[in-house]
Amino acid sequence: MRRPEELGFWERIYLPAIVRGLFVTGKRFWRNLLGHVLQQMGFDGGSPSVTIQYPDAQMNYGEGYRGAHRLTLKDDGAVNCTACFLCATACPARCINIEAGEHPDNAVEKYPVRYEIDTLRCIYCGYCVEACPCDAIRMDTAVHPGVPGYSRIDFIEDKAKLMGRSRVIENEGRAALMKDHVEQSAGDQPRSAPDSS
Ligand code: SF4
Ligand code: SF4
Repeated sequence: MRRPEELGFWERIYLPAIVRGLFVTGKRFWRNLLGHVLQQMGFDGGSPSVTIQYPDAQMNYGEGYRGAHRLTLKDDGAVNCTACFLCATACPARCINIEAGEHPDNAVEKYPVRYEIDTLRCIYCGYCVEACPCDAIRMDTAVHPGVPGYSRIDFIEDKAKLMGRSRVIENEGRAALMKDHVEQSAGDQPRSAPDSS
C-alpha cells in the first residue's frame, strides 16, 4: 500500500481545504437561493435546485410507478373483482382482506362484499396486481400513498375508496386524482365515492 507523502505547510494548517469547501458550499447556496427566488417570482429559469415545490408542483411519475391501488369497474360501474382471493393469497404482507358474497345476478358467481387494503402494512410490491386473473386491481393511479389520518383505521382503504379512484380516472383523468389527493392531504374533504357492487 502506498503511504501518503508527508504533509506540507499549507496542508498541515488545512486553510486552503477549508476555503475550498466554503467556496463550494457558498456557490451552491447562492445558486439555489437565486433559483428559488426566480421560481417564487413566476420564472422557471431552469432552476438548478432539485427541490420540487410540492404541492404546487408534482413529480412526473414514470409509467412503471406503482401508486395507490384501485379496483377496476365494469361498463355498468360494478366492481370487476370476482372475490377469488388470489391477490390476498399472493400478498406477502397479508394486508388484503376480502369478504366474498353471493351476487344477486346468477350470471355472476361471487363478488366482494368487503374489500380492504391495510396501507400501513402494504409494501407496494405489486404482487396483488400480478396475481389477479381479471385485471380487477391495478396500481397505475400515479398517486403516492398519503397520510389520511392519525389512527391505524384511517389507513385502511375500503372498496368504495378503491372503486372511487377508478371512477375519477375514467371521468376526469389521473390529474384529477392527484388534485383530490393534494386537497385531502391539505385537510380538505375528499369527494364522496358512492359504493356500488
Ligand atoms: S402491493 Fe404487495 S403488499 Fe401491497 S397489497 Fe399488493 S401484494 Fe400486498
Ligand atoms: S382483485 Fe383480482 S385477484 Fe383479488 S379477489 Fe378480486 S379478482 Fe381475485
